[in-house]
Amino acid sequence: MSNWEVVIGLEAHVQLQTRSKIFSGSATAYGAEPNTQASAIDLGLPGVLPVLNSAAVHMAVKFGLAVGARIAPRSVFARKNYFYPDLPKGYQISQYELPIVVGGTLDIALAGEGERKTVRLTRAHLEEDAGKSLHEDFHGMSGIDLNRAGTPLLEIVSEPDLRSAAEAAAYMRALHTLVVYLGICDGNMQEGSFRCDANVSVRPRGAEKLGTRTELKNLNSFRFIERAIEFEVERQIELIESGGKVVQETRLYDPDRHETRSMRGKEEAYDYRYFPDPDLLPVEVSDEFIAAIRAQMPELPQVKRQRFVAEYGLSAYEAEVLTASRELADYFEAVAIAGGDRRLAATWVMGELLGALNREGLALAASPVTPERLGGLIKRITDETISGKIAKQVFDAMWQSGGEADRIIDERGLRQITDSSALEAVVARIVAAHPEQAAQFRDGKEKVFGFFIGQAMRETQGKANPAQLNELLRRELLK
Ligand code: ADP
Ligand code: MG
Repeated sequence: MSNWEVVIGLEAHVQLQTRSKIFSGSATAYGAEPNTQASAIDLGLPGVLPVLNSAAVHMAVKFGLAVGARIAPRSVFARKNYFYPDLPKGYQISQYELPIVVGGTLDIALAGEGERKTVRLTRAHLEEDAGKSLHEDFHGMSGIDLNRAGTPLLEIVSEPDLRSAAEAAAYMRALHTLVVYLGICDGNMQEGSFRCDANVSVRPRGAEKLGTRTELKNLNSFRFIERAIEFEVERQIELIESGGKVVQETRLYDPDRHETRSMRGKEEAYDYRYFPDPDLLPVEVSDEFIAAIRAQMPELPQVKRQRFVAEYGLSAYEAEVLTASRELADYFEAVAIAGGDRRLAATWVMGELLGALNREGLALAASPVTPERLGGLIKRITDETISGKIAKQVFDAMWQSGGEADRIIDERGLRQITDSSALEAVVARIVAAHPEQAAQFRDGKEKVFGFFIGQAMRETQGKANPAQLNELLRRELLK
């Protein structure tokens, strides 16, 4: 074990899925032509006034309730002043001293089976997003796209409770799962709807005082966050062990070169000169407003996970996998209902279905096999129309054609042979054809039994009912 303890706190920027911007009511949709959605209010042109979008407040409260936080009865928007081309107003409207969501916790899954950890949240506040600088398509110049300016964000800040790159990635996953469950974020990381800054420091094991941290900006994938932190931890430890000192600074992770680079140091840190925005009233959230949101809360991932264990008899690991998204959990439950057997439903969704989706890089929504049809296949396993082995063939055919299990089983003649007289005939023929092996079996060579099973399965193209075959074969051999 290393002499150093890693300490990480995350700041997540979650784009709220409102249809309009936070202070202008102007449309917001990803991928529009540059600057066609830039609104005069979000650019702060003279004479305009911001008006708060209540849907954003609703979503922030929903998040706060989901993590057991305190919802501030009164929160205040402040101006955070800095100059950068993607922020033509010269300030970003955010919340500073009085955020809307205070405290709360998030449960994360650790590597060990069923092991969990509770991470404390500091706060979550509402703010507007800035525009985007475009550096690629302009020779020697930067382009600017202000479509994103004014898009509502919820910034969620954790306490420095995370102790490894893997824990940070697990936290990011759990938070991503939660905001998508709540329907407050589309979770699209390629489009920047969910991105994280990681604050990373190390301290000698056992020390109380936190080390100097660096901040890694804009990590937008679970893999990158893990790799970026791993790199940064190594860098800090090597630096300190060779007599150097970590300087507090912002660094950027370059996934192509797998390194972090300094972006700006503390000396260049801005003085944001925060002050309450005089154009916006404080946000007052009433008990009725909170109660109404509480009444519409969906089942949260943690509750669903526990229910899957209690109600369906799943292992902690299975429940974790099957509740990774609301969509997958719903799919699984639909299969369990249609197929009747919950254990088989879990096995087939986690095995064949997720395997096939992964192999083809498909999202669940694009699965050619619907939950009702997968349930239909499971029914044919439980009523012994087909064996588990043949069922895999049927699944592959369903995946290719999108068809129903029953049709495929009939068309391909895959029905299990359970007619005992038909099986008896096969068994008698095989035993008669192999007198030597039969004698060996009678002499106690149990292994030869497998040979006969193989022969019978070959003859029946795998369609013999395994339990029945076993019994008939044993009886025939011992005759
Ligand atoms: P800032 O105002 O620069 O954003 P904060 O004090 O709000 O700084 O902290 C931002 C994030 O950094 C939080 O998630 C917090 O938990 C984390 N953090 C603070 N100090 C440290 C440290 N020494 N090591 C690791 N993370 C830290
Ligand atoms: Mg910060």
